[in-house]
Amino acid sequence: MQKALDFYLQQRRKIVALNYVGFVISWDMETDAAENSIMADSEQVAVVSEMSYLLMTDPEFEKAVATLYDNKEQLDEVLRHEIEVAYTEVQNTKKIPQDEYTAYSELTSKAYPVYVKAKNENNFELFRPYLEKIVDYCRKQTKWLQTDDLKGYDVLLNQYEPHYTQAKYDRFFNALRERLVPFVKKVTEKPSKTPKWAKREFSVDKQKEFCEYLRDVMCFDKSRGIMKVSEHPFTSGFGTDDVRITNHYYPDKFDSSIFSCIHETGHALYEQQCDESLNGTLSGGGASLGMHESQSRFYENMIGRSRAFWEVHYTKLQEMFKEQLLKVSLDEFMEYINTVERSFIRTEADELTYPLHVMLRYEIEQKLIAGEIQVKDLPEYWNNKFEEYFGITPPNDTLGVLQDVHWSYGNFGYFPTYALGSAISAQLYHYMNKDFNVAESLKKGNTAQVNEWLKNRVHKYGSSKYPDEILQLATGEDFNPDYYIDYLIEKYTK
Ligand code: ZN
Repeated sequence: MQKALDFYLQQRRKIVALNYVGFVISWDMETDAAENSIMADSEQVAVVSEMSYLLMTDPEFEKAVATLYDNKEQLDEVLRHEIEVAYTEVQNTKKIPQDEYTAYSELTSKAYPVYVKAKNENNFELFRPYLEKIVDYCRKQTKWLQTDDLKGYDVLLNQYEPHYTQAKYDRFFNALRERLVPFVKKVTEKPSKTPKWAKREFSVDKQKEFCEYLRDVMCFDKSRGIMKVSEHPFTSGFGTDDVRITNHYYPDKFDSSIFSCIHETGHALYEQQCDESLNGTLSGGGASLGMHESQSRFYENMIGRSRAFWEVHYTKLQEMFKEQLLKVSLDEFMEYINTVERSFIRTEADELTYPLHVMLRYEIEQKLIAGEIQVKDLPEYWNNKFEEYFGITPPNDTLGVLQDVHWSYGNFGYFPTYALGSAISAQLYHYMNKDFNVAESLKKGNTAQVNEWLKNRVHKYGSSKYPDEILQLATGEDFNPDYYIDYLIEKYTK
């Protein structure tokens, strides 16, 4: 046992170091690297991730993990969880036939550029043969990896959000369908119009300056993190002391950088506020995709789109953009940042309609993996469902079934985590308000009290527990979608 532990810890040091190398190269590719260096950099990333894969699948490592797994009662809680996760991963990797795995990696790397072309040219037929093979593989994957508890689509869902199955998601999406779809139709009956002032030019330098201000408001520790520019905003972190955020600035869409900044800083705070003892282990970072998204959405929506927040910070924004905003009242500003409308694109959807976009994908994936619909049926199926939920039909596949990149990577089961994150954020918000008045706390000019609560209830655990355990510890109950739907209906009824 001691020998196995020593070997595990030694090998883990190497895995963590390689992960770090991968993290830095990827960050550089997304931010500073010259456009034409991408091919060369991709090659290095491939080599590093292969080295990391070899360490993970090393027979000696596998033996050590198995020994530790058999003696897990003797390990401390954090290591026990880490070993459980590693053990499952090692076992799963073994269940996938090597030749199928290699062929699939090649397939998805070829599928991506074809997908991009198909999307740009509004040509689903171009992408169809690739997607058919991808779906075929995912269906086989559900057979290879199935267990007594997990079968079919559940196998795929579990890869992105452990312990979240169709039974759990169904309750959530059924509630959305019943309560939210009719509500959204009512709220969006009257088309909204972007006010003229919001379309004016807002200097990018000043937007950057305001985002710096926001990160201070959110108590982001700038000595342990940085912010740069990239095409699509994202956050990546390595331990609590190296957390990196990007943003994107549009002169004619000033609010985009503001809400991306708040969203990504939410992700970043999760990373910065993990317990420091988890640095250098495989138990740092967020517990799952859904849990991570719950933090970013919490700050973006519950805090960043709240009146209490802007009652304190709107004057600052007005001062910085006198020409554009001096005559715009707080009420007008609040109405603008909470506009709801029927739209085709998920990533541009507002807080209220967003979960319906996810629900649509969830239903389609369920049917597709179960074999109830086929890839060739997708465009029509998509458009009909879209009409049913939103009352509008996408004019083409670029704005419909081809809009998201996920399926070209084979990421089936990923989408639901987006809506789950939003729903978890509402459950946390409900319980946080029981402990203190959140709106009142924002009057202090920063989010310190909110940060502290999330640190103690969620962040400190990193990924040393399963997300459903953390939610249970934080709120005293299992995932409950009612808080989310109640929150949305209450907010948008006003
Ligand atoms: Zn996010």
